[in-house]
Amino acid sequence: MIRSGINGFAKQARSRVELHVHLDGAVRPSTIWELAHTKGITLPGANFEEFKQKINARGSGSLTKFLDAFNIFMPVILGDLQAIYRVAYEFCEDSANQGIAYVEARYSPHLLATTVPDSPWKVMGDVTPKMVVETVSKGLSQGEKDFNIKVRQILCCIRPFPDWSSEVVYLCQEFRSKGVVGIDLAGDESQPTHPDHKKAFQEAARLGISRTVHAAEAGPASNAKAAVYELLAQRIGHGYHTVEDEAIYQDLRARDIHFEVCLLSSQATGAVTLDWSKHPAIRFANDDLNFSLNTDDPTVIQNTLGDEYDVGFNKLHFSERVLARTNFNAARSCFLPRDEKDELLNHLKEQYGLQECCTRL
Ligand SMILES: [Zn+2]
Repeated sequence: MIRSGINGFAKQARSRVELHVHLDGAVRPSTIWELAHTKGITLPGANFEEFKQKINARGSGSLTKFLDAFNIFMPVILGDLQAIYRVAYEFCEDSANQGIAYVEARYSPHLLATTVPDSPWKVMGDVTPKMVVETVSKGLSQGEKDFNIKVRQILCCIRPFPDWSSEVVYLCQEFRSKGVVGIDLAGDESQPTHPDHKKAFQEAARLGISRTVHAAEAGPASNAKAAVYELLAQRIGHGYHTVEDEAIYQDLRARDIHFEVCLLSSQATGAVTLDWSKHPAIRFANDDLNFSLNTDDPTVIQNTLGDEYDVGFNKLHFSERVLARTNFNAARSCFLPRDEKDELLNHLKEQYGLQECCTRL
């Protein structure tokens, strides 16, 4: 039995699980604003409210606007270990305030470092990718304690930078005991996947590091197939265009591959049409596909996980049962070790008032 009403669902304490959120896309706008002023960096907008609007790509349908927002604020954060610690710590507080029990936060250590020569923002210094992971680990660990939430990390490889990927695998291995549970591949999927990414993901699989890949977000269904068969992904980031190839869709469904759906992001980036009634997640829900709801980049979409559930309920007309199922899908597809995953599932069952014997909604 599910407790009554969408509002009742929303109010359940610490009952949600989030699998797809970028830590560097989840920075509080107020933190960016404050740090920029301390550092003498000029931001667009005459005041804070105007600045917030400048970096808000919600509903824009424009990948350019979405990516431009990162160009505005990333230089304020990257290479600043104090700022990175603060972002990680505040992320825990913000997630806890949204009723999240467990979240996997992802980021590229290379994009936040200043020793990487081909970094897109050309801010050079002495902060290495390893120092970034060390700092994020410390910030999250303190935040977990202070806000009573469980947070794990996924380290991202970036498609146009295949040279970084072997170090990402190394960092995943090195920081396993400090909360890193998986590897991701993000970035422009219009080019074929570089062999160095494939090598890195195969090595990650050999080492028992869990794998998710951004695929079929803006690109074709074949990218999702390649993610699963060549990069050995257990989860797909987005995957909307998979529905355009029935054979691939049915195959991934039969394999119980998890799809990390981000509704507001999918419209913000123009990955899908602005017509909610045609959103691929409706098909996912009707087919009982293994998918979850996620925020992706709250800094530039200015959304909460609650907003995603509201969109699912109000725009895609998901039933409470479907919404609850997406949350349980997230828990059973998360990258925690078996015993911790069981603990999380039992916690959710308790929160939803489900009997111990019920394994699926
Ligand atoms: Zn993403």
